[in-house]
Amino acid sequence: MANSVMKIRTIWVSLTSVQSALPLTLLMMLLMALLMTSVTLNAQAASVDGVRMWAGPDSTRLVFDISGPIDHSVFMLRSPNRVVLDLKNVRLTQSFRGLEFNKSLLSGLRSAKRNGKDLRLVLDLKTNVQPKSFLLKPTKQYGHRLVIDLQSLSVKPVAKVAHTVTKAPKGAPRDVIIAIDAGHGGDDPGASGQRGTREKVVVLAIARELEKLIKKEPGMTPLMIRTGDYYLGLRKRMQKARENQADLFISIHADAFRNGRASGASVYVLSSGGASSEAARWLAESENSSDLIGGVSLDNKDDLLRSVLLDLSQNATIAASLDVGGHVLKELRGIGKVHKKRVEQASFVVLKSPDIPSILVETGYISNKREERNLRNKHYQRKLATAMLKGVRSYFAQNAPPGTRLAMRGNQNHVIRSGETLSGIAQRYSVTQLALRSANSLRNSRLRIGQILRIPVL
Ligand SMILES: [Zn+2]
Repeated sequence: MANSVMKIRTIWVSLTSVQSALPLTLLMMLLMALLMTSVTLNAQAASVDGVRMWAGPDSTRLVFDISGPIDHSVFMLRSPNRVVLDLKNVRLTQSFRGLEFNKSLLSGLRSAKRNGKDLRLVLDLKTNVQPKSFLLKPTKQYGHRLVIDLQSLSVKPVAKVAHTVTKAPKGAPRDVIIAIDAGHGGDDPGASGQRGTREKVVVLAIARELEKLIKKEPGMTPLMIRTGDYYLGLRKRMQKARENQADLFISIHADAFRNGRASGASVYVLSSGGASSEAARWLAESENSSDLIGGVSLDNKDDLLRSVLLDLSQNATIAASLDVGGHVLKELRGIGKVHKKRVEQASFVVLKSPDIPSILVETGYISNKREERNLRNKHYQRKLATAMLKGVRSYFAQNAPPGTRLAMRGNQNHVIRSGETLSGIAQRYSVTQLALRSANSLRNSRLRIGQILRIPVL
């Protein structure tokens, strides 16, 4: 509608400029014709031109591509459960064939015409859900969209199991929980490389490598924040980490930069005062924009944000984040170039947990040809994950939370006596030399008499 109004205004301007050369009656006739065209333009229906779907473990998102803003209403019908979407003055130009409902909360999607010009969409459901809908304006790669989020209301046993795994019996030492957050997902692909590599895909692959490594690491348990190709709101990610009492939150990204030559990994922690450099600011904006794509109507936003802002432990958490970030950056330096030598600070929403040390690792620039190739490479993905694990390991060797298995072992110290070697001590405590070196930040196996070695967890 706005378009046709604009057009008329443009033509009116050009008409007034030739007004003197035209008889007034002719001008009036032209204007009438124009106004009539605009009426038919306004009456023209918007269209639904496509649909995309992403399914998470307990939520499903449907995104309808529409030709322009529309009026719509949503309601639930029971037995059987279904969500009904009424779209005013809208027609359907695409069929919904080819949608895969397998892992979603839907069993089908139907459409019907109503009142000759309206469109009704019926989402047949496998379970009871809470629907939420909102319109999105065009962004980078998409036009107008109508988004339907379905949140399952039935508690899945899967979620329960995942939760109890993280809880040790009272009094027994527990594992340190590492939350691994693969950035973006679903209808938010993140950055793209020149070969079409998508950030959401490579970061999930790296996250899965890290998950595997942490699973094998004594005293640590991984918690995957996103387990597939679907979008999770930034605050939902924090929330999941909090609900599972994570001890550390690592968000993994691989972003683009205006300059295709920018390269190297970076580590970010939350800044209280916003971005600390121009690049950091730019990144902060593009990261946070995904919350706009994903969570326009998140109900819990304000409460959590308020609590985040109020929490006085934030400063201590930032200090801890800087510490763990430093360890990770040091390890990343070991596998290649880093973008900045120091841990950077930016105001990424996902890092705002007031009490969980959180870091965001930019594994590389997907906009850089060479790094795009690396990021697609399984071997390189594993290298990145290994560097992150080593950083996390050496951080916890010095900062194990009380009550954890790491803390129990970490309290065990060994004072070096004459003639002792690293390999001998490793053997004695049944740990690897690498673990000893990492726990004590040793560059080589040289020891001095009187030196105190922290013995890491088995
Ligand atoms: Zn990203």
